[in-house]
Amino acid sequence: MSNQDWQGKHVTVAGLGVSGIPAARVLNGLGAVVTVVNDGDDERSRAQAAELEAQGITVRLGDGATLPESTELIVTTPGWQPDKPLFAAADEAGVPVWGDVELAWRLRGHDGREPAPWLAVTGTNGKTTTVRMLASILEAAGLRTAAVGNIGVSLLDAVLGDETYDVLAVELSSYQLHWAPSLRAHSAVVLNLAPDHLDWHGSMEAYVADKGRIYEGNRIACVYNAADKATEDLVRQADVEEGCRAIGFTLGTPGPSQLGVVDGILVDRAFVTNRQKQAQELAEVGDVNPPAPHNIANALAAAALARAFGVEPRAVRDGLRAFRPDAHRIEHVADVAEVAYIDDSKATNTHAAEASLAAYDPIVWIAGGLAKGATFDELVSGAAKRLRGVVLMGRDRELIHEALTRHAPEVPVVDLDRTDTGAMSEAVREAARLARPGDTVLMAPACASMDMFANYNKRGEAFADAVRALADESA
Ligand code: ADP
Repeated sequence: MSNQDWQGKHVTVAGLGVSGIPAARVLNGLGAVVTVVNDGDDERSRAQAAELEAQGITVRLGDGATLPESTELIVTTPGWQPDKPLFAAADEAGVPVWGDVELAWRLRGHDGREPAPWLAVTGTNGKTTTVRMLASILEAAGLRTAAVGNIGVSLLDAVLGDETYDVLAVELSSYQLHWAPSLRAHSAVVLNLAPDHLDWHGSMEAYVADKGRIYEGNRIACVYNAADKATEDLVRQADVEEGCRAIGFTLGTPGPSQLGVVDGILVDRAFVTNRQKQAQELAEVGDVNPPAPHNIANALAAAALARAFGVEPRAVRDGLRAFRPDAHRIEHVADVAEVAYIDDSKATNTHAAEASLAAYDPIVWIAGGLAKGATFDELVSGAAKRLRGVVLMGRDRELIHEALTRHAPEVPVVDLDRTDTGAMSEAVREAARLARPGDTVLMAPACASMDMFANYNKRGEAFADAVRALADESA
């Protein structure tokens, strides 16, 4: 869309907040007639409304359900559930609904600049890590790039800002994909699929279908996880550009058109001249930080997207070596008395915890918090053999305890029966008591943190503080 198309266009922005406010500002700046509707009418939203109104934007607080008259387009905050009455009204009136990603996609190149292609990443777990690895690889290749979307820089800023990019590494959530009907990535990956956010999407089917939108219209490669058939099925169902390839990644030996691992080396058997017979070495497993199996998978996915974009093997290696994981994602805090202490506070669901539990042996596991409706049988039975002991805390710890009784009755369990913030330091002490030299104490709670902490960052910090106190005492 050119700038002129926005002049006088009546756009309703659904929801104040992280993406609603910048969207309203941008649209207003383009000359659209903008109304923001918001469910809440509290002090904070009134202050935000006052700021927007000073710029000539209309804000309706306390009524997010009524479609303002003459609305030609709704731009929604991705968090708004599709079953909201506003969207039913829009549907009836034939008004299109775009999310923030769709808006950014449509605004690319509106100022006459050549738009940067998008390499897009989604999945239940590993998105942020993969996007950051990808950006690191692209940078190592000398490309002007940024990790954007659900992390760091917003897509609108990346598309509209002064900076010019050769390519963007884009993280997309299932919510954003739901509201991005015309997005067409250069290449994209769905890392994995496990039940999450089903309350928002309504069903697993709807969740999977929204994730699958990322492949629609891909030009060069649809990258899937060979160990997760559902991701491959989505590639098969996608309507892509002529010549777009399906590329798998696997932790095993890759087949043709796959990336995989052979004798500790990450290899590419997809973007090579003779893929029936040849494979190209990209990096060593030890170049991936940390070299846990799920993280090798993330690295392979990032490498596949970079290779689809034409990046040289050496830049894949250099980019992976330069990559540092974000805090609280399998972060090595310290070794105390020959026991490693790992903070994976970001493991807020069972699928994530399963990945980090698979990466260590033997483990003293610190777990518990808000289960969000999850069950723990599969997680516990899969990890049982590697558990030295378990320390439980948090509101829903009983659910994990029951699963342990069923599947790992011989594993010692310390049930702290606490949900206060101070419980973490007791948990670390108990874990230290259970651990033997060579073990790993892994805080991967498989639960959300809000029963005990403000967020998973605070939970991770509490763990790290407790480990450091332990280290000081034993020094
Ligand atoms: P997201 O952005 O999708 O939430 P992150 O990269 O922030 O993903 O990782 C979140 C957590 O998920 C990590 O702490 C780790 O426990 C787990 N994780 C990361 N990558 C994977 C993967 N490929 N498969 C399963 N779990 C993963």
